[in-house]
Amino acid sequence: MTPDEVLTQIARQVSVCQQCNLHSTRKLSVPGEGPADAKIMFIGEGPGFYENEQGRPFVGAAGKFLSELLAKAGLVREEVFITNVVKCRPPGNRDPQPEELSACRDYLEQQIATINPKIIVTLGRFSMAMYFPLARIGAVHGQASMVNGRLIVPMYHPAAALHQPALKSTVERDFSHLGDVILQHVPARPEIKLQEVVQKDPADSAEQLSLF
Ligand code: URA
Ligand code: SF4
Repeated sequence: MTPDEVLTQIARQVSVCQQCNLHSTRKLSVPGEGPADAKIMFIGEGPGFYENEQGRPFVGAAGKFLSELLAKAGLVREEVFITNVVKCRPPGNRDPQPEELSACRDYLEQQIATINPKIIVTLGRFSMAMYFPLARIGAVHGQASMVNGRLIVPMYHPAAALHQPALKSTVERDFSHLGDVILQHVPARPEIKLQEVVQKDPADSAEQLSLF
């Protein structure tokens, strides 16, 4: 199987998965999205309201902010893989429970093994804990470290930064610095032309058409 096919197979399994209680309250599971050869992977916490409706990661307010943060690092959404530690929405956006995290863990491990990204950016404390179980986000945010041959960068969760204005400029600074880290570790990224990406999105094309 090609990496693309493996990711599709994982997404299919996730869409019907009943391995933890979250399956009973979800509308759509959210496997994650992005190219199979992404050099950089972002791992959040779990789907929220809009993600559960649409089956896509980071499409609500935190997602809009994440897109702005990606731009600060010189990235576009379409070149990175974005997923979460749990693929189904915890009701009321509560924290994922230990048994849910462990039930879902294998999907994430398979995604990481398939994509084999050079850099993993963790968003919030649950994905940070996979790599730095004892770390405090306040002490290590924005600092890249090698873990098992991969560069891991723990970041504040964009939703936390939206709710706490004092964190906003911190997370913006961390993402600007991430741009330098990427240049050092992923020197030859394939160029993505924004224009092509925009035209591929049917919602955007509809919007463009309505201008005429
Ligand atoms: N917050 C997350 O952690 N993940 C999402 O997909 C959306 C919001
Ligand atoms: Fe399965 Fe993960 Fe959804 Fe639980 S959260 S039902 S383990 S896909």
